[in-house]
Amino acid sequence: MTSQFKDKVIVVTGGTRGIGFATCSELADKGVVVYACARHDSFQSEISDRVIFHCLDVTDAASCEKLVQDVMAASGHIDGLVADAGITRDALTSKMTGEMFDEVIDVNLKGIFNIVKPVAEVMDQQGGGSIVTVSSIVGEQGNIGQANYAASKAGIIAMTRTWAKEFARKGKQIRVNSVAPGYTLTDMLKSVPPKLLDKFSGQTMLKRLGKPEEIAAAICFLLSDDASYITGTVLDVNGGMCL
Ligand code: NDP
Repeated sequence: MTSQFKDKVIVVTGGTRGIGFATCSELADKGVVVYACARHDSFQSEISDRVIFHCLDVTDAASCEKLVQDVMAASGHIDGLVADAGITRDALTSKMTGEMFDEVIDVNLKGIFNIVKPVAEVMDQQGGGSIVTVSSIVGEQGNIGQANYAASKAGIIAMTRTWAKEFARKGKQIRVNSVAPGYTLTDMLKSVPPKLLDKFSGQTMLKRLGKPEEIAAAICFLLSDDASYITGTVLDVNGGMCL
């Protein structure tokens, strides 16, 4: 798989931490030029010099367009996009404010639309590319205290399937897939009580939580030519979990 990635250009939103960071590391190891985007230049640990940081808030559509222009000016092509940036603002619905709901939808759902739109335009002109969105098991099964997050992730799955149909019209080889992680050991789980994490790991067949590298491996597979006939799918990477 390594040689096919050499000198490809791939944009990863949320690339500084957790699943996005692990994805950037794996792609850089395979020879990809990676544009890692987030609001802060705060990589969780040292990263390859093939990874270029780009400051981006995915809720700002104009900044997403500018990022794509900048990458095109520097590299001339964009072969892949990982739309990974996401947040949680959990509460039972009775306690969830409208602001908490809107914030999650703005980042997780609209943010993906904002970045996919200009990247898909480039891929359309190129005639090909691979887009991987990061959804969640919660978007498929729902979860207590996560009405906002579940709605955003279910929406990502619906957009992914729509884009797989839409972008491949006229024979364009643009593939769009989603990876739906289960509970994965990143900063996102820092606010979850350890007791609840134990419960979640007990709900998996493998009796443990996921590692960011295990989610990154699935993302890299879908980006790769090994997945050249796979589009419109949601790949569950959750250790066999049922919520
Ligand atoms: P982390 O909290 O570890 O990392 C989130 C990343 O997104 C950071 O790089 C952060 O950087 C960036 N980010 C957050 N908001 C924005 C924004 N508005 N614009 C641009 N970048 C932003 O999260 P994970 O790695 O755990 O999660 C990654 C994805 O995986 C998310 O979509 C999440 O919903 C999904 N997921 C995670 C699971 C888990 O258990 N960890 C389970 C299922 C799905 P900065 O703050 O500097 O902007």
